[in-house]
Amino acid sequence: MVKSLKVNLKKLEEAKKKLTEEQYNICFLKGTEPPGSGKYTYNKKKGMYYCVVCNSPLFSSDSKFESGTGWPSFDKVAENKNVKLEKDLSLGMARTEVECATCGAHLGHVFDDGPTETGKRYCINSLALDFKETK
Ligand SMILES: [Zn+2]
Repeated sequence: MVKSLKVNLKKLEEAKKKLTEEQYNICFLKGTEPPGSGKYTYNKKKGMYYCVVCNSPLFSSDSKFESGTGWPSFDKVAENKNVKLEKDLSLGMARTEVECATCGAHLGHVFDDGPTETGKRYCINSLALDFKETK
């Protein structure tokens, strides 16, 4: 059993208020940004992708690959404990939803058809991420 991370609810409420309508729609209403629209889809810089809500480190640029789907794609999570996977049966599909384990924000979905040795393809909305470049 993973020790549940303490979330400061007041801070989380404040963070939610700072989100744009589009970010809120993705993170808390489980929306999906239009493919190709996200600012990180073709980002090739070195660095770390953080949760846009709570700043938890989620994906390293080392695990990012070009999937051709129009969404930023990663073959693994920076720290497994930082994300939570949930079965998602919406839209008539059996998918696995990826959430931020710290604040519960919806990030995207993970699929088992990744082209690298992990076999995973984390398909993540740019709007749920905040990239910080490593110099
Ligand atoms: Zn978060």
